[in-house]
Amino acid sequence: MFKMTPNVLRNLFFPKATRRYPLEVRAPFENVRGALMNDIEKCTFCSACALKCPSQCIAVDKKAATWSYDPFACVFCGICVEICPAESLHQKPEYRLPVAQRESILLKGEPGQKIEKSS
Ligand code: SF4
Ligand code: SF4
Repeated sequence: MFKMTPNVLRNLFFPKATRRYPLEVRAPFENVRGALMNDIEKCTFCSACALKCPSQCIAVDKKAATWSYDPFACVFCGICVEICPAESLHQKPEYRLPVAQRESILLKGEPGQKIEKSS
């Protein structure tokens, strides 16, 4: 009992080391690599992201103009964002929200869409 007293007092009067998530959400760190997003209107379905992804969690079908992604396999390394020639991929500065079921993301564009280059 006497051994516990300092601990009890410290816990009563000092700030807690944990948060009451989801009521209290910590602000993301600077330069955090968060949720992966694809601006599908810009995507040319070149497959570079799928070929370079170390987790093999991206699949691209150029004919069908689809881009699919498994966020549960993604390690958020950012390689796909770096190499995307159309700059259609980016990572949000916040983490993905928790979900109750495993789900993949499937985005559909227009077959044959091209990169619009700004001068
Ligand atoms: S997201 Fe970028 S790298 Fe991936 S298929 Fe589309 S244009 Fe190519
Ligand atoms: S962030 Fe990394 S692991 Fe996730 S899809 Fe892109 S290349 Fe793959």
